[in-house]
Amino acid sequence: MNEYDVIVVGGGGAGLAAAVTAAERGAKVLLFESEPELGGSTQLSAGMFTAAGTSVQAGLGVEDSPEKFFQHYMDLNHWMLNPGLVAAFCAQAGPALEWLIGLGVEIPARVSGNAHTPGLCQAGVEDVWRGHVPKDQGYGIVQVLVRAARKLGVEIVPNTRVERLVSANGRAVGVVADDVEVRAGAVVVASGGFARDPGLLARYYPAALRAGEDLFVVAAPGSRGDHLRFGEQVGAAVTGDGWGLLLPTAYFQRLHHWQSGFPPKSRILVNSRGRRFMDEDASYAVSGGIIEAQDGPVWMVFDERARLALPAGYAHWDADVVLREATEGRTIRADSLERLAELIGVPAGTLTATVRRWNDGLPRGEDPEFLRHRTLANKGVTDHPAPIGEPPFYAARTLPAELVCTHAGLEIDARAAVRDERGDVVPGLFAAGEAGAGVLGERYVGGGNAVANAITMGRIAATNAFPQ
Ligand SMILES: Cc1cc2nc3c(=O)[nH]c(=O)nc-3n(C[C@H](O)[C@H](O)[C@H](O)COP(=O)(O)OP(=O)(O)OC[C@H]3O[C@@H](n4cnc5c(N)ncnc54)[C@H](O)[C@@H]3O)c2cc1C
Repeated sequence: MNEYDVIVVGGGGAGLAAAVTAAERGAKVLLFESEPELGGSTQLSAGMFTAAGTSVQAGLGVEDSPEKFFQHYMDLNHWMLNPGLVAAFCAQAGPALEWLIGLGVEIPARVSGNAHTPGLCQAGVEDVWRGHVPKDQGYGIVQVLVRAARKLGVEIVPNTRVERLVSANGRAVGVVADDVEVRAGAVVVASGGFARDPGLLARYYPAALRAGEDLFVVAAPGSRGDHLRFGEQVGAAVTGDGWGLLLPTAYFQRLHHWQSGFPPKSRILVNSRGRRFMDEDASYAVSGGIIEAQDGPVWMVFDERARLALPAGYAHWDADVVLREATEGRTIRADSLERLAELIGVPAGTLTATVRRWNDGLPRGEDPEFLRHRTLANKGVTDHPAPIGEPPFYAARTLPAELVCTHAGLEIDARAAVRDERGDVVPGLFAAGEAGAGVLGERYVGGGNAVANAITMGRIAATNAFPQ
């Protein structure tokens, strides 16, 4: 006789969503969390949630459907994901969001310009806005789920890292934690990603290590990749190999932008040819990939006026920090654009022409080449950036170096059931969030992709782990 119906490993977004859903269905649920506090990366996140056909969209007159979401999702990922799984995710993300709202998560039906203002914003490069930003962000989602879990009688064991799975006759029947074996009808692995394990990064996401000493990890401390170790135990297949989310940053940033601050609005990115090559405000659904595709280093170029206009109070994007970086020679500084070009090794004539075109473009209201005015308008920015013209000029190396989440995990199907190397289901084993792979692809579909994945697939996992 099992002690529990469902054991959930991990108390972040996916684990809490799974635990609450199973408990709502009448299951006896035990949840282990390795850290003293629940929440994982979900708690640290903006909580932005990508979903289609929601009441929030309807409240703003936005017409959308899971089918449109699916088409966009698959196209952006070059159809390299399992369509059955992605279709289930796209169909259930909206209902999962409504479920959160029903539990008490507040998402007002108003336009939001960014991931910090509750409402609906442009999550990625989608034609229809799908980024739902909750009040109190990821913290708000976690608090609502913890409250629901406690009310429903979920047994929560913090500070306890699950060591391994227990299986019998090929079926997952429980876990071992603190050397104690506990059995259940089904196990849901929701232990997050592996951003904090350098060995697993080298194996499953080596692109992150290309950032070298500029790499910094913002994912939660519990992101140690235990799901991959559990998977080895039962012969689970791994998918999503090589994929994750690295945000572009200047080399001197070391914290998420809430603390690091934001680069000057009046800035351009140039490649080793001295040319602009992208909308500098492009969504991180695509910006990391565009920067990666350049030959050689990418430089953020701005001037003294932009440096002095940086607002005080942030750890890295601060006028004094930039000055210090320049004085110590890590940010390149020069009294003319020609000299700056020489120092960063790009053709001087091209850089000056690039800056001239910039000054003739967006500071006057339009960026005909890269359409940055459209992106800024969607963010609610109405004033134009200043021209670049006041010496000294600065160039800061910019690269994808902020590691947010990892996508390689246990292969799951549309029921969030874990598959083995042969493609067969591992009975009794489910996975969700970063631990359960297949929804998060090569291209991050936009802010909200990962939280939506965690909550939606957590719910799907619980529904199938405890079918009633
Ligand atoms: C700063 C930041 C901002 C972000 N903003 C957004 C955003 O706005 N929108 C978006 O979509 N995505 C965002 N992301 C990504 C997103 O938050 C995560 O991908 C997602 O929340 C992961 O959910 P999860 O449940 O899989 O993992 P987590 O939330 O990390 O939860 C996993 C939990 O499992 C625990 N655990 C690990 N191993 C064990 C074990 N062996 N035993 C027991 N417990 C274990 C961990 O401690 C952790 O609490 C952001 C991430 C960060 C770091």
